[in-house]
Amino acid sequence: MDLVVTAATRPGAGETVLGESFKTVPGGKGANQAVAAARLGAEVTMIGRVGDDHFGTTILNNLKANNIITDYVEPVTGMESGTAHIVLAEGDNSIVVVKSANNEVTPAYIDKALDVIRDSNIVLIQQEIPEETVAHVSEICANLGVPLLLNPAPARYIKDTIIANAAYFTPNEHEAAILFNGMPLSQALRKYPNKLIVTEGSKGVRYYDGQQEVVVPTYKVEAVDTTGAGDTFNAAFAVAIAEGMALQDSLKFANRAASLSVMKFGAQGGMPTRQEVEENL
Ligand code: ATP
Repeated sequence: MDLVVTAATRPGAGETVLGESFKTVPGGKGANQAVAAARLGAEVTMIGRVGDDHFGTTILNNLKANNIITDYVEPVTGMESGTAHIVLAEGDNSIVVVKSANNEVTPAYIDKALDVIRDSNIVLIQQEIPEETVAHVSEICANLGVPLLLNPAPARYIKDTIIANAAYFTPNEHEAAILFNGMPLSQALRKYPNKLIVTEGSKGVRYYDGQQEVVVPTYKVEAVDTTGAGDTFNAAFAVAIAEGMALQDSLKFANRAASLSVMKFGAQGGMPTRQEVEENL
């Protein structure tokens, strides 16, 4: 759950300031990507955890309202839901994320959902869950032959074996700089042809096709709020690949969906429907 405050100034250490507004909005990378994929017409099963607090109920209801199967989103007894505490001030945001129930998405918890993973056309995963769980899912997908799209956000060190298990790996340019630890981007792209897809905001996306670097430009739009652009991009890319679209067409589809999402406020609020994307491709 995102807890969003707007204020004229942000407080320094030991300081109290008066804010202007406060709202709670369902968020989180996994949930955002699930909502975006469902809106694009995919049948989506979310695997995750919420707390047994009132946020947990709201989050579950929001997933259900977006036609997402929530059989594998179990509340954790006696624990809070994951929250992001966001202050919007002075034209920028400061965010504290408390993972809480997300930490209970353990490897053993994932094993309960093996059947749904086996039956899926694609698995889309992010990093707001424990590191060992991401590693475990990558092994399951490799063993079952289910393509894995790993969106390494937020950025943190990732073992090469996990990247090897993924079919697609989609950092934004800042995350790529952290993950590849100073390696020039062109070198990293060549190391992972047709796998490493780096999103570059209003410029689009970049990858290496085995022969040359390819940039798939995004669409020119009036950007109102870019929150959730990356989530929409990843979900749309997953949907397109799962439907059997070619890589470049899938990236074009994902650029279109993500560019439409930045034209409206909010992460989930701006996510387009399938019809909106297809009308504008
Ligand atoms: P965010 O954290 O804001 O959700 P991100 O930093 O993870 O996003 P970006 O690389 O900024 O990811 O954007 C992802 C994709 O969204 C881009 O590849 C592009 O398709 C689309 N996009 C983002 N910003 C714009 C923009 N201003 N105009 C058009 N498309 C955009």
